Amino acid sequence: MSFEQIMGQDRAKALLKNAIASGKIAHAYLFAGPSGSGRREMAQAFAQALFCERGGNDSCGECLECRKVLHGNHPDLHVIAPDGANVKIDQIRTLQRELSYRSVQSGYKIYIIEGAETMTVQASNSLLKFLEEPPSPVVAILLAPSAQAVLPTILSRSQLIAFASGDREALETVLVKEGKPALLARAAVNLASGLQASRLLVEENWFADIRNVVIQLGRENPNQFTASLLQAQQQVFKTDLLEHVDVLLGLLALWYRDMVYAMTDRHNQMVFPDQGEWISKQAWTRSISSWVSVMESALTAARRIKAHVPPQLALEQFLVNVREG
Ligand SMILES: [Zn+2]
Repeated sequence: MSFEQIMGQDRAKALLKNAIASGKIAHAYLFAGPSGSGRREMAQAFAQALFCERGGNDSCGECLECRKVLHGNHPDLHVIAPDGANVKIDQIRTLQRELSYRSVQSGYKIYIIEGAETMTVQASNSLLKFLEEPPSPVVAILLAPSAQAVLPTILSRSQLIAFASGDREALETVLVKEGKPALLARAAVNLASGLQASRLLVEENWFADIRNVVIQLGRENPNQFTASLLQAQQQVFKTDLLEHVDVLLGLLALWYRDMVYAMTDRHNQMVFPDQGEWISKQAWTRSISSWVSVMESALTAARRIKAHVPPQLALEQFLVNVREG
């Protein structure tokens, strides 16, 4: 994968390309961002560009070095992922042994640690010594959800590259180019994290149904929507939509967020632009904080269902919150 092929995360991309162009490659990078934000792809693109025989600040995808990276068998690229719940000290030690051999070619040795936030304290300390005295030229790429998720001592020895949480616009563009319906693509990228998860959601045949139920539900008079929710609830329970009630609540939360977007002049970010006119009129019947609180209640109910609270119970709690909100 080349930088060129990665959608979005332009800031991270520019920082890495500049580092390559200027020849100032740090010993360690911390790619900080939520899962689905493309850290793994970016790490691979960075490694491939550093290995590429053709030089320049992006890889060619064709030379032997590029092909080895693409096939996952480059001898100087090591990838570590959590073994069970953690990255363990044995994994770091094995890595250090492998890196102490001379590189096969004379170029870089690169290692990627996925889930760097799960490193045990022993693993972190072992890695730390290594970051302090790297056998040059070694490049470490640590992936973590945030800068705070790793030990400060590790952070201070790494160059931080921040990843924007899911570059939704870019993902949406990809899905629409693939021929997915634009409105469903917009909804999916706001619900799921990452391209693959969003694509799977759009491809589910119940997803369009859920979106319709949410519109129906949302368009009821908000002051009476306890009744309409119960009605929709019955409708949902009659079909296999019950299985996906967490998605329904997630989407309902986005409907309420659209109310806030309408009130704050962010119409172009709406998840339901096809309902924009109606939403813009309705939005002003409540305060922003009231919509936010309803939105949070919907998300809480969705979380409870994911945590195996019976859907009916979670929905009832949601209705109570809505009535009070
Ligand atoms: Zn190449």
